[in-house]
Amino acid sequence: MSEREVLTPVLTKRWLSPEAWKISVYERLDGYSGLRKAMKAHPDDLIQLVKDSGLRGRGGAGFPTGLKWGFIPQGDGKPHYLVVNADEGEPGTCKDLPYMMADPHGLIEGIVIASYAIRANFAAIYIRGEAVHAARRLRNAVDEAYARGYLGRNILGSGFDLELVVHSGAGAYICGEETALLDSLEGYRGQPRLKPPFPAVAGLYGGPTVVNNVETIASVPYIVLGGSEWWKTMGTEKSPGPKIFSISGRVNRPGQYECHLGITLRELLELAGGMKDGHQLKFWTPGGSSTPLFTAEHLDVPLDFEGAAAAGSMLGTTAVQVFSDQDDVVYATYRWIAFYAHESCGKCTPCREGNYWMVQVLRRILSGQGTKADLDTLLDTCDNIFGRSFCALGDGATSPVTSSLKYFRDDYLDYIEGRKAPYFSAEQAALA
Ligand code: NAD
Ligand code: SF4
Repeated sequence: MSEREVLTPVLTKRWLSPEAWKISVYERLDGYSGLRKAMKAHPDDLIQLVKDSGLRGRGGAGFPTGLKWGFIPQGDGKPHYLVVNADEGEPGTCKDLPYMMADPHGLIEGIVIASYAIRANFAAIYIRGEAVHAARRLRNAVDEAYARGYLGRNILGSGFDLELVVHSGAGAYICGEETALLDSLEGYRGQPRLKPPFPAVAGLYGGPTVVNNVETIASVPYIVLGGSEWWKTMGTEKSPGPKIFSISGRVNRPGQYECHLGITLRELLELAGGMKDGHQLKFWTPGGSSTPLFTAEHLDVPLDFEGAAAAGSMLGTTAVQVFSDQDDVVYATYRWIAFYAHESCGKCTPCREGNYWMVQVLRRILSGQGTKADLDTLLDTCDNIFGRSFCALGDGATSPVTSSLKYFRDDYLDYIEGRKAPYFSAEQAALA
């Protein structure tokens, strides 16, 4: 292990405590003390505290959280809303679901503080439909919190009221996009809305709405308790704080590791027990499949918002998927694009048609029938998707294709020039 301290059990500190999801255990472990402290502060001071901490959105985009809260107009007489995005669907991402299973009251505590700060009296957790177990655990925790006076009317005698509901989606990846999520929550088919206006101006039912990721909101009680200066002792100057990384693939100990932002893959691999025997690192995603691939050359890239971007990718959801020399980058790319094609909501042409056609071309290459011109067709299609799509799904879908062609063009040529046996038969390719 490197000399600097990289592990930071802050949000995950209760994960190993038996039954910490029960309110009695949570309270015994100092739970809801952040809320008690927050309720004595003025809401504006809480917004300023979060601004000062430098907390940035943990859902992938890294937008400054305090700034987003500050956009909610005050004294406008309209209802305000807080919506927690728990639709974690980015391939490889597995941090919010384990968090909610282990520590649902941590999220609820953050929700009450955030709602109090932005003066919202209604909050919702939108959880992905497949996560039935986590939804059940959250609903139990919400019931417990109502019974103990942390939710409902006159919370802790403060005069502040908050209703919280847990809403399960129906398993569509696009409903993790914040405006599609809002449509879905309102009972419509989930499709992205035009931005601006951003949800902070016109969100749920047209009202000012903060949409924050689970991990973002779960960070808030710790910032209230520890202060912004303490929060900034972790991470980097522009990306402060701890972050839960989910590591999967060819490593000995896959799982969730909460570390300082700015950790490198070299350090993460040590935490995860190194590469599996007989496997050499070949390519990896820093933050899910929507972030351009990195290679073994990027072992020392600092994994914070700036570091990942400077090296040509993005921090994204910090879903580190590790692939080895025994994995096929062309096939992996095909699987990711097939996923995006399936999950494209169909609203705009570049994403709907572009992903469909990229699947066809990739299958042709994998069946040994591709040509070199197909590689140009793939890049040309990406050019026509990126920056021309209605939402981030389209842009993200181009990442595996452009980055795999940038670093591993020869792997494509191996299929095209017959050095590698076809993955699909000609019949299978035609069936796509
Ligand atoms: P974005 O940069 O458009 O917006 C980020 C947030 O900032 C949003 O909440 C948006 O409303 C707000 N915002 C941005 N500009 C604003 C402004 N001028 N005024 C008010 N608010 C403003 O990014 P996005 O499209 O919301 O998300 C893209 C990211 O989502 C990608 O980076 C990807 O990594 C991530 N992602 C995450 C998952 C997951 O499962 N967690 C899945 C897919 C994608
Ligand atoms: Fe729908 Fe894709 Fe267009 Fe987003 S980019 S609106 S998912 S078709």
